[in-house]
Amino acid sequence: MTRRDSRTITVRGVPIGGGNPIPVQSMTNTPTQDVDATLDQIRRLQAAGCQIVRLAVPNRLAARALPEIRRGTDMPLVADIHFDYTLALAAVEAGFDKIRINPGNIGSPERVRLVADACRDHGVPIRIGVNSGSVEKELLAKYGLCPRALCESAMGHVRLLTDCGFEDICISIKASDPAMTVETNRMLAAMCDYPLHIGVTEAGTRYRGILKSAAGIGSLLLDGIGDTIRVSLTDEPEEEVRAGLELLRALGFKKGVQFISCPTCGRTEWDMIPVARQVEERLRDRDWDITVAVMGCVVNGPGEASHADYGIAGGRSEGMLFKHGVQIARVPTGRLADALVELIESENQ
Ligand code: SF4
Repeated sequence: MTRRDSRTITVRGVPIGGGNPIPVQSMTNTPTQDVDATLDQIRRLQAAGCQIVRLAVPNRLAARALPEIRRGTDMPLVADIHFDYTLALAAVEAGFDKIRINPGNIGSPERVRLVADACRDHGVPIRIGVNSGSVEKELLAKYGLCPRALCESAMGHVRLLTDCGFEDICISIKASDPAMTVETNRMLAAMCDYPLHIGVTEAGTRYRGILKSAAGIGSLLLDGIGDTIRVSLTDEPEEEVRAGLELLRALGFKKGVQFISCPTCGRTEWDMIPVARQVEERLRDRDWDITVAVMGCVVNGPGEASHADYGIAGGRSEGMLFKHGVQIARVPTGRLADALVELIESENQ
């Protein structure tokens, strides 16, 4: 797949854009001023595979906690700021690695220049983030809420930075409607070469949110658009990371274990669904570039999954362990999951 040509920004050593691997981001939901809770959540996000974490900095109290948070983790950190440019300056001083702020919302051109200069001096990129709730009234009056209005809003913020000679920019435009998100980012991708952070905002709770995000983010990634992603969920932030990583794996943007399993049918004679879940859970975080299959019957399973590197196909009392569609052992059904995981671990550790 050809990816869109984009510039590269770097967030504490993590490149975004320029055809680099696509980092998965999330956001803490602890009160930022609660340093212990925030650092604890950052560690859990890091353990889940998150590569960049954003923290809300809504006020002075939160800003005062930033230096201690910075000292407590080596994770790339983004400060999310609305309106108050002094909070942006505090985040830069504290050693944060990226600022998310919309320059059109912080007042005078002098304030924009102060933020741009501070970020430039510290090598800190700025992310402009527009969503369907933040489009300026004039643009809404002119276009209504549509991709054109969202793109013009974002590019207006961009111009305020480029007027200060600041180009270390990433843009995100998110809508809660996946189709609007896709259409808008296609338009934006044609308007500029800044790296794009993509996601569907306010996507919802886990099940619906993952589906909406997969539709929106996935469509764009398959168009070659998107340099970093966040799956926004009303759930624990680690779930966002797991979903984001899985989406990248499913689309071939990230190495890792690919799972295939059949939907079961009237030929299935064993309790396969919990076994498929168990195998997936046990291998989920491994970065082996393999395909693993769990299939419902020995008659069709190995053939249907012959492209898998490893697999099991179950029967009433015993099943088959296979490699590349070829049986290598018969195993009691109750031991199929263990036999599969043991085989994979012995050949890939
Ligand atoms: Fe049915 Fe067997 Fe195909 Fe699974 S592999 S869907 S059980 S025929």
